[in-house]
Amino acid sequence: MTDASNNDGEMPRCAQRGLDTVTLFEMPINTLTLSETLVAIGAHIDAGEQGYVVTPNVDHAVEFAKNEVFRQTYQDAAFVLADGVYILWAGKFFGKPIKEKISGSDLLYWLSEYAAEKGYSVFLLGAAEGVGATAGRVLEEKYPGLKVAGVYSPPMGFEKNPEENQKTIDLIRESGADICFTALGAPKQDLWNWRHHKETGAKICLGIGASLDFVAGRVKRAPVWMQRIGLEWTWRIMQEPVRMGKRYLIRDAYFLVLLWREWRRG
Ligand code: UDP
Repeated sequence: MTDASNNDGEMPRCAQRGLDTVTLFEMPINTLTLSETLVAIGAHIDAGEQGYVVTPNVDHAVEFAKNEVFRQTYQDAAFVLADGVYILWAGKFFGKPIKEKISGSDLLYWLSEYAAEKGYSVFLLGAAEGVGATAGRVLEEKYPGLKVAGVYSPPMGFEKNPEENQKTIDLIRESGADICFTALGAPKQDLWNWRHHKETGAKICLGIGASLDFVAGRVKRAPVWMQRIGLEWTWRIMQEPVRMGKRYLIRDAYFLVLLWREWRRG
């Protein structure tokens, strides 16, 4: 295992239980296969621990470099799983191989299947009104035995309104869900999971971005071949030119600086 300590010499939580970890763009990243991930999350749930998952991609790397609070979400995450081919390619290039791409969108399916087998219940938080319920029905049909303990689409800005925020936490807690899929987009979902995962009572919270929209069929995900060759971002720009154009073409161009820094560190 490589040393994943941060600048203050503190070991990030995701590296503390003997899970293989590398440090890339200063982010600790677990280098697990999908089956190792499912077993590790299962063991975490069975042990009654509480924690959350973050899934680094280019967008996260840029946020990590610029946002000190976001960096803390990485320090405290129980699992950090590489969500982008660019992170995998960079790992390979800089001699820090990561075994598999495990994106939040894929993990929503895989973990739902695993949850159905193991009897864990799930909560679907976020996305527009009605999307979570549709996604829940799709997942329950696909994975017989899966228990969707609850779904909730909080109003925009709920996280800044103490009452709405508390209502959201209470709904998850009262549902008794073991796993909370948080679909609020990055970095909001990761900051929310970091701040509130303990209060929700869920054993594991996981940021999944637009995945509920994909499952419910509201938004079409990029074809697998595009994901494989790193072109998912072009697909998303075609779907939402203004918002995604700003994100991928302007904001994420900073990734080139991060590559340069990693090269110099290397
Ligand atoms: N969303 C939400 N509440 C918010 C902000 C976002 O429910 O306050 C939802 C939004 O409806 C969408 C998802 O979060 O379903 C985020 O989508 P985005 O495309 O930003 O996520 P990405 O996959 O790119 O991280």
